Amino acid sequence: MNAFNPAQFRAQFPALADAGIYLDSAATALKPQAVIDATQQFYSLSAGNVHRSQFAEAQKLTARYESARDQVATLLNAPSGKNIVWTRGTTEAINMVAQSYARPRLNAGDEIIVSEAEHHANLVPWLMVAEQTGARVVKLPLGADNLPEISQLPQLITPRSRILALGQMSNVTGGCPNLEQAIAIAHEAGMVVMVDGAQGVVHFPADVQRLDIDFYAFSGHKLYGPTGIGVLYGKSHLLDAMSPWLGGGKMITAVTFDGFQTQPVPHKLEAGTPNVAGVIGLGAALEWLSGVDIAQAESYSRGLATLAEDALAKRAGFRSFRCQDSSLLAFDFKGIHHSDMVTLLAGYGIALRAGQHCAQPLLAALGVKGTLRASFAPYNTQHDVDALVDAVDRALDLLVD
Ligand code: PMP
Repeated sequence: MNAFNPAQFRAQFPALADAGIYLDSAATALKPQAVIDATQQFYSLSAGNVHRSQFAEAQKLTARYESARDQVATLLNAPSGKNIVWTRGTTEAINMVAQSYARPRLNAGDEIIVSEAEHHANLVPWLMVAEQTGARVVKLPLGADNLPEISQLPQLITPRSRILALGQMSNVTGGCPNLEQAIAIAHEAGMVVMVDGAQGVVHFPADVQRLDIDFYAFSGHKLYGPTGIGVLYGKSHLLDAMSPWLGGGKMITAVTFDGFQTQPVPHKLEAGTPNVAGVIGLGAALEWLSGVDIAQAESYSRGLATLAEDALAKRAGFRSFRCQDSSLLAFDFKGIHHSDMVTLLAGYGIALRAGQHCAQPLLAALGVKGTLRASFAPYNTQHDVDALVDAVDRALDLLVD
């Protein structure tokens, strides 16, 4: 692996050739040429479907498709590619756990503990399954440091607590709770833990065995891969225990009008023709990433966020919601609506996001209606920081009386 070189890293992203100021990587990352090439080659050169046909090209494609599972297993230190289920993304993975694992096991009065910092993708599926089963969603509140208050977990756990849903890294504050501690407490009480890794995987992929994670989900598109492909990792006995959510081709071994028998995992949970291009593209992203020093790249992008925060902090009314020196910088200016600010920034060519970031309970706990969020990636530069600060100054000139 080579030392991280910001200019070389940036040069691999054709979308940056027009020198746009892209500060929205937490929503979706730009794609390196290696991923674009792999996806294009798949569509231009590959023939056949996976797991269906006998001809050589289709067999080759199936082998490549399956080996991408092993790449994901390596990224997460999962025991095997068999622990990796392809999904459309984090959202689908968590819904799958809620519907295929939790729903058949939850009874009225059972409890699902969900942190207040969660993205809606790790809250709404639990609210839905609670409505379907009579279970209750219990809030693990945010603490003074804007992280879920893990120390409150033991008091919240009752004999009816079944599941803990917790994000590895907040998509708003960038805060990372102590997963190891939370998982140990939940396991002590016999609970199953769902970790939303959508943001965390980009910065520090979790070691699912070391952390003893039961279920872990992430999306390819935030990790420089294509949209429409994601991952559910599950411990083998938990995936085995799941009943398929979708039925159809390739998830069965035998079907009659009297019933069907399912394939072993992971195929039992992957009915129908999968997103082959997405898997190939994600495989290419992981291959490409294996040559990047993620820790160095992370400290570089955190440094950019710190520069931006320090510069913006000199402007009157600036408030930061950034946790733990994250590469995400959520902020606002007291008395200025985030929508007004983001509209002006967009006009000045700065791509970032404002609003509730699909985390309305978190925003309510922070006591704000919305924030702006500049998310820095290793392809950003000091020039991007300066452009953001400059654009904010122009906006403040217009917005402040
Ligand atoms: N969880 C977190 C923390 C996220 O940031 C996101 C994406 N914004 C999701 C879940 C959902 O990911 P997707 O839309 O790719 O399913």
